[in-house]
Amino acid sequence: MKAGYNMMWEKCKDIQQELIEMRRDLHRIPEFGGDLPKTKAYVIRKLEEMGISYQENPDDSGLTAVINEGVEGKTIAFRADMDALKIQEENDLEFKSEHDGLMHACGHDAHMAMLLGTAKVLNDHKEQIPGRVKLIFQTDEENSRGAERSIAAGCLDGVDAIFGTHIGTLRGKEIPSGTVISHPGSCMASFDKFVIKVKGYGCHGSTPEKGIDPINIAAHIIVNLQSVIAREISAVKPAVLTVGHVVAGDTYNIIPSEVLIEGTTRAFEEEVRQLMAMRIGEIAEMTAKVFGGEVEYEMIWGAPPVINNADMAALAAECAREIVGEDHVIDHVSDPITVGEDFSYYANQIPAAFLFLSSSNPEKKTDAPHHNCRFDVDEDVLWIGPAVFVKLTERFFGI
Ligand SMILES: [Zn+2]
Ligand SMILES: [Zn+2]
Repeated sequence: MKAGYNMMWEKCKDIQQELIEMRRDLHRIPEFGGDLPKTKAYVIRKLEEMGISYQENPDDSGLTAVINEGVEGKTIAFRADMDALKIQEENDLEFKSEHDGLMHACGHDAHMAMLLGTAKVLNDHKEQIPGRVKLIFQTDEENSRGAERSIAAGCLDGVDAIFGTHIGTLRGKEIPSGTVISHPGSCMASFDKFVIKVKGYGCHGSTPEKGIDPINIAAHIIVNLQSVIAREISAVKPAVLTVGHVVAGDTYNIIPSEVLIEGTTRAFEEEVRQLMAMRIGEIAEMTAKVFGGEVEYEMIWGAPPVINNADMAALAAECAREIVGEDHVIDHVSDPITVGEDFSYYANQIPAAFLFLSSSNPEKKTDAPHHNCRFDVDEDVLWIGPAVFVKLTERFFGI
């Protein structure tokens, strides 16, 4: 570091107004899923204005931009998600959603703005960076399908470490706006869906001996499933198994031939997740057999748990301390959260850390939960996201 030279990350304060404008532009045009034409066009326009090259995913609206393409050395990557939710916005904002029934109610508009801001500052100083920076704009996070498609398109090729951040109130609305949370280990849960079709043999309700009652079987399965949590997983390893949807029969005096059971599991370790998936199938099958029935069982995989690399999480916390000060950084938490994030697909492949930036401020009415029709972010903290990413780049390359 040359004396008198401003740290690169400090430039992020100067682009605060621009960050707000980009976030508002994107907030107006929320799109859902993997096909996000307006959002993609906006990101591309901004990248082209900055003269940054990018590669489009073949199968969705995701894209990956590269600063210093062709420069030898290490590669650091940052990721933002681009998708919104099927929610009717009820905020009374001048930049309110213009798309009926769709809303950026998870803060992904802010994530894109913060990544574009990161791109701008790093691109302005690219001669000082002895390596490459990849900026991954990923679709379909809410369905946990976008990360896999970006990886298939090659976004992680040659990448040595990756970072992402989530703005909002995810870690608790009591954490003051502007606080950065970066801790080692599990920080978000896996989320999977299971479907069990119980097959019996329908008959008249007055003569159950002539059929095989799938309602009786389903009832036993539902009760037996809870013993996976109670008896097979250590009490110190959090896990959730919920049956949330059961469809059985049409009327009181007919034993139906089939019952549908659907539920979800959450875990913070891959082994626990896999154990639940295996045991749900076994218990359903064996229980059905006891009563002469059968099951069809399917686990519809969501995203794995997000597990932060200890070194990368510590590095990010160190960078954040320099930017927002010791009092506004949390580097250890007692409880991970049972919400999922498909950032886990990146973290499963290379050293990674997923951070949280609190934007919870009751006075500004930015303390609503995520996926709520009144969710909003405290725009005053937007500069902190790019500042941490830029600082990470400085530390990563030893600038
Ligand atoms: Zn969300
Ligand atoms: Zn989100």
